Amino acid sequence: MGAPYFSVNSSGNMSVRPYGAATLPHQEIDLLKIVKKVSDPKSSGGLDLQLPLIVRLPDVLKNRLESLQSAFEFAIQSQEYNSHYQGVYPVKCNQDRFVVEDIVKFGSPFRFGLEAGSKPELLLAMSCLCKGNPESLLVCNGFKDAEYISLALVARKLALNTVIVLEQEEEIDVVIELSKKLSIRPVVGVRAKLRTKHSGHFGSTSGEKGKFGLTTTQILRVVKKLEQAGMLDCLQLLHFHIGSQIPTTALLADGVSEAAQIYCELVRLGAHMQVIDIGGGLGIDYDGSKSSDSELSVSYGLEEYALAVVRAVQNVCDRRCVKHPIICSESGRAIVSHHSILIFEAVSASSDNAPAMSAHGLQYFVEGLTEEARADYRNLSAAAIRGESETCLFYADQLKQRCIDQFKDGSLGMEQLAAVDGFCELVLKVLGASAPTRTYHVNLSVFTSIPDFWGIGQLFPIVPIHRLDQRPGVRGVLSDLTCDSDGKIDKFIGGETSLPLHELEGKSNGGGGSYYLGMFLGGAYEEALGGVHNLFGGPSVVRVLQSDGPHSFAVTRAVPGPSCSDVLRVMQHEPELMFETLKHRAEEFVQEDDGMANAALASSLASSFHNMPYLAATSSCCLTAIN
Ligand code: PLP
Repeated sequence: MGAPYFSVNSSGNMSVRPYGAATLPHQEIDLLKIVKKVSDPKSSGGLDLQLPLIVRLPDVLKNRLESLQSAFEFAIQSQEYNSHYQGVYPVKCNQDRFVVEDIVKFGSPFRFGLEAGSKPELLLAMSCLCKGNPESLLVCNGFKDAEYISLALVARKLALNTVIVLEQEEEIDVVIELSKKLSIRPVVGVRAKLRTKHSGHFGSTSGEKGKFGLTTTQILRVVKKLEQAGMLDCLQLLHFHIGSQIPTTALLADGVSEAAQIYCELVRLGAHMQVIDIGGGLGIDYDGSKSSDSELSVSYGLEEYALAVVRAVQNVCDRRCVKHPIICSESGRAIVSHHSILIFEAVSASSDNAPAMSAHGLQYFVEGLTEEARADYRNLSAAAIRGESETCLFYADQLKQRCIDQFKDGSLGMEQLAAVDGFCELVLKVLGASAPTRTYHVNLSVFTSIPDFWGIGQLFPIVPIHRLDQRPGVRGVLSDLTCDSDGKIDKFIGGETSLPLHELEGKSNGGGGSYYLGMFLGGAYEEALGGVHNLFGGPSVVRVLQSDGPHSFAVTRAVPGPSCSDVLRVMQHEPELMFETLKHRAEEFVQEDDGMANAALASSLASSFHNMPYLAATSSCCLTAIN
């Protein structure tokens, strides 16, 4: 999973290798040490951040960018391709200010640029690129109105290397009109709707019926309009996007070849073409299978991807005697996924149902059953003695169903129903017929932090970040804090419906430890897509750099997640007014001798507004186990 960035160290903890394969052992960063440092004010130099926590690792981000760049440089050199690679980062994958600023800074030596898909994204890309390399591209994608197009023209005036990529045919009229009005010569691109189709989940963008881009007929009309306006020289870039997680290099090469033909046709028609922008789609290996049969993986690495692209463009251009274009890609997932890790705590786990049952208890529970249920009970017991687990499963199911029916018609009490559950579970456990799955309650909102799991069933690697030198004793599913039955994770990499987990030794079991889990490879898309279901906001965020200090890391930035006030404001509430209303209410209704003075009450209310909506470390022990 996530090779070559994550491994288990000699303490049994998950550690990060910030420079990938080039990381030396003393440079590895222990994730548990980060959690302790930022969430435990008592640890040396410790902070007091609340979990869940996103740990951002800019060194990993830098390594991803440089690896992508070297893969293309190697392919270009080995194929004797006569131009260069110049990528852009699609900011929609993670618009966090520090992620984008880091990418601009790390990519500046090789002119790495940005892609924007909306007006606010364009504004942030413009301001970040002011500190970057002037040659870096600023690719403007997405549906555009006159305001978006004016802004992109202004970006060009500000000497940012801006390209307006036409996503719809009508946009060209606005581009021509506004560029004349503002006297700014634009650089224009077209997004082609390719016939090549990616059949996977992320392929709905591609093919003739895809949502985006211009058909060949529309591209021809755009060429005509530009020619009539005396602006055909402005058309310089061809863009396409097959879809995310392209499964194979064969499909990639097919799409790139089709696009390269369109590129050559545009050259033939007189456009001053410079750049072929192959969009995103560079896949990552979520499940470690490196196989295109899995929706969670792809059958190639960075090197094979780059080679397939370079070869496909070169073959077509050489056959058509067209000068090799600059190759641009808009890889998002492959750049940002690895650099961020979501860490959350399991605060309690459901306990076994099986109660200790005396002979008297057993007698009492059997007596209350109907004749049919008693027969099931006898058959279950006999099958258990013979060690027939399949038969036991059958009779246990039947017995439980009959007892539920009896409970519903009022002829069985709650204690008896619980005793039946416990008895069946005990028998099945002894026979090894079922390893009961526990429910681990995690201090997290799936809707906020892993929205793609809820929305499209996307799976991410989830692993405890410590105790990995101990054999996990139980299997569990994860249930979040939201009051929503979808707020659970019960599907995992490898087709598993539960995770191997350790028994909690923590607060919920009366001990002093905590149990931390990490979700990996979620640096792309998850943060921007997350909602505020149940008004849980985003996690706290820390930025951690590799350093030669005693811990091999330094926390360079720590930001607590949104408070209750912050998330209330998102839904138009006014926390200050709400606080005043509640304070007045307290003055009206609470007597000073009530035990809690008004001042203390107001201060408790104030901290409720001020704290994060998640369980505070001290209150997690109050969460009782629910099965
Ligand atoms: N470019 C465009 C136009 C996209 O629509 C997308 C994502 O869907 C991307 C780039 C990024 O794709 P990926 O994250 O697969 O690299």
